[in-house]
Amino acid sequence: MDRLWEDTLHEECGVVGVYRREKDASGAVYYGLYALQHRGQESAGIAVNRGGHIEPYKGLGLVGEVFRGAALSGLEGNIAIGHVRYSTAGGSDARNAQPLVARSRMGDIALAHNGNLVNADSIQETLSDAGVLFQTTTDSESILNLICQHGNTRGIEAGIRNAMSLMKGAYVLVLTTGDKLIGVRDPHGLHPLCVGRLEDGWVLASESCALDAVGAEFVRDVEPGEIVIVDSGGFRALEPVQWCRKSLCVFELIYFARPDSVVDGVSVYDFRRRAGALLAARNPIGADMVMAVPDSGVPAAIGYAEASGIPYGEGLIKNKYIGRTFIQPTDAMREDAVRIKLSPIRYNIEGKRLIVIDDSIVRGTTCRRIVGQLRGAGAREVHVCITSPPVRYSCYFGIDTPCRENLIAARKSEGEIREFLGADSLTYLDEEALSTVCGRKRLFCRACFDGDYPMEVPVGARPSCFCKEGGEGSDPAA
Ligand code: SF4
Repeated sequence: MDRLWEDTLHEECGVVGVYRREKDASGAVYYGLYALQHRGQESAGIAVNRGGHIEPYKGLGLVGEVFRGAALSGLEGNIAIGHVRYSTAGGSDARNAQPLVARSRMGDIALAHNGNLVNADSIQETLSDAGVLFQTTTDSESILNLICQHGNTRGIEAGIRNAMSLMKGAYVLVLTTGDKLIGVRDPHGLHPLCVGRLEDGWVLASESCALDAVGAEFVRDVEPGEIVIVDSGGFRALEPVQWCRKSLCVFELIYFARPDSVVDGVSVYDFRRRAGALLAARNPIGADMVMAVPDSGVPAAIGYAEASGIPYGEGLIKNKYIGRTFIQPTDAMREDAVRIKLSPIRYNIEGKRLIVIDDSIVRGTTCRRIVGQLRGAGAREVHVCITSPPVRYSCYFGIDTPCRENLIAARKSEGEIREFLGADSLTYLDEEALSTVCGRKRLFCRACFDGDYPMEVPVGARPSCFCKEGGEGSDPAA
């Protein structure tokens, strides 16, 4: 997939695991994956555990494409895990689709992973030196191998603990082996994982919206560094392996997670609404209408409108049917892509002074085109308000960002960015205001704003970045 024209951050993956005493688990995993589709659209898969024998079914495409027809009917078993993928580590080809399954000395084991290890290269080198052969190009396969290396002789719990002592970076894991469903969250808690209860079992999922989709009741979040296990004895949690700086990725709340999810006790919808309200309170602007860049800007635009008293209205319609398969083979077609994806409602915006709310500016190209579209449709003024601080640093923890040189805020001042966008004004939510929205007791990773990474990033570590060396991803419009 050609991503170089894209102008947004991307989540890497979503995971689900279901344990049922009697019934089939794969149907619930399927519905859970549907709810998590926003976390990854490149591939989808389910691995089902039938009395310790595990079979995967996976492929490239959306959940509905991969599990078309009778694909689910052969996936019977009371434990199942599932995965939707957006690749940053490893390519987007079919062999990297998850869950990964290994036939180990412990028995069959399946793993689904969300995140990115910063020491993936050195782990892979060590494993290769020990004779391990790799069938994929993902860091997830190294995790599976690390777990099996130790687990083969000492059991699955020891295998996971050993792997956790060696891995650095972001990882949320859902595994199944033997009669167990297991969930793991890295000690920083960079990405979310929660636990839900079914009448006859348990669910683990990246976001609580997946629990709602399968009819499970939210129980709690998995704590950073925690291992949770479900088997015939019920649900139990092992003591978190280590304590370190808790660092939930703040973009989970700003942009990635679905607004109906609750992440680490925070309603995603309410977080965005409050961010919009604070933006209005700190930077009053005279205007006729507040509008959102759909869809993620909508709760913040509503919050802005409530706080400012300026009416909220729709100014852009998003074409929901542009998906993975939409290709842009030429620069001219890339320009057209934004016009096809977002279309202004002239009736609502002509002659008006607009406040346009979006969650972030990455390269600036999409925002500039939107401003141009709104002016072309007759807007008198366009004021851009962003519900995050300027993105100046790349991510190493599984969020797909352009390389630093392609982040517009790393190269230009706010005044220069406003000029590039062609906006009448540009307002970011500043770092202090973001702290207020986050709540000072909660600790978040905010490294893409301030470069303060929650762990040491080894020299030579690759950011979760789709640009290639030599500036292939450089913004032609910048
Ligand atoms: S660097 Fe940014 S995108 Fe990456 S985990 Fe931290 S806050 Fe999230």
